[in-house]
Amino acid sequence: MKKHNFNAGPSILPREVIEKTAQAILDFNGSGLSLMEISHRAKDFQPVLDEAVALFKELLNIPEGYSVLFLGGGASMEFCMIPYNFLEKKAAYLNTGVWAKKAMKEAKGFGEVVEVASSAESTYSYIPKNYEVPADVDYFHITTNNTIYGTELKADLDVNVPMIADMSSDIFSRPIDVSKYICIYGGAQKNLAPAGVTFVIVKDEALGKVSRYIPTMLNYQTHIDGGSMFNTPPVVPIYAALQTLRWIKAEGGVAEMERRAEERAQMLYNEIDRNKMFVGTVTDKEDRSRMNICFVMAPEYKDLEADFMKFATERGMVGIKGHRSVGGFRASCYNAMPKESVQALIDCMQEFEKLH
Ligand SMILES: *Cc1c(COP(=O)(O)O)cnc(C)c1O
Repeated sequence: MKKHNFNAGPSILPREVIEKTAQAILDFNGSGLSLMEISHRAKDFQPVLDEAVALFKELLNIPEGYSVLFLGGGASMEFCMIPYNFLEKKAAYLNTGVWAKKAMKEAKGFGEVVEVASSAESTYSYIPKNYEVPADVDYFHITTNNTIYGTELKADLDVNVPMIADMSSDIFSRPIDVSKYICIYGGAQKNLAPAGVTFVIVKDEALGKVSRYIPTMLNYQTHIDGGSMFNTPPVVPIYAALQTLRWIKAEGGVAEMERRAEERAQMLYNEIDRNKMFVGTVTDKEDRSRMNICFVMAPEYKDLEADFMKFATERGMVGIKGHRSVGGFRASCYNAMPKESVQALIDCMQEFEKLH
């Protein structure tokens, strides 16, 4: 049976990315050696890293003066590296979920943290609006896509301070105005590569402004100076990321990724709104994520939740269980998700409705 992979992360990747990476693991560039058993400083690997950096810059239209890094540690490591490198006195955070809260918790160890707004009181079912960002903060931190709750900031905000964004789960799903940010980061395992590599886009001149000592490995300057090779980088995930970046370019770039994301999301939200058995969990429709589409059973069908899960699983749906803090269902539809899989889920929802 064909599987439809709605996993939230690690998650679906284009088939050719997996095949090309598997091939390089068996035999890298016809060298007779595996990608896993060569030096990261081998002359054949440097071009992989260089092309990945170049494609990042090209696809996201990153201006001059920014560096692209591939590090270990996950987005969770960035939660502490961000304040280490950028927080001198005071920073502002928008609390849109568990990941935002974790980022905020780390920052509190380094300076004053202002929570400008929060939607915690309603299980983060919307993105707060109409808040003030203090003018004297070192940066304003946002999470553009809230993977667990299915809310998304689909456009770059207008604020008068430099922004920093966790884009773990929506990078490359829309064009971004990188010049508004001093740093954009994320774990690769949602939209780019297998787990193990973390991407960081950093504005060079925003560094070097804090007065504290920064441990070598946690200092972005170390990794800029070392070209992401200060220590051994995660070579296999970087190789896979390069294949994804090539795939995005060949498919038409981030504008095309956004068009597809919008199409998939409209298809599925239309069905959620139409089908009497289901309701969406995000209260402000403009905040509905295109990447993680969350829904629950309508109150009168609440006791059929396990039945629908079984029904959908039997028809090849994978990973649609909602996060435990939200419940219900979550269909994660990252860049590699074919429209056909979304249609297969919609078919399931319609057949299930006919049965009841
Ligand atoms: C998954 C996720 C994280 C955590 O990433 P790790 O790489 O596991 O540390 C952080 N932020 C967001 C928005 C995520 O979706």
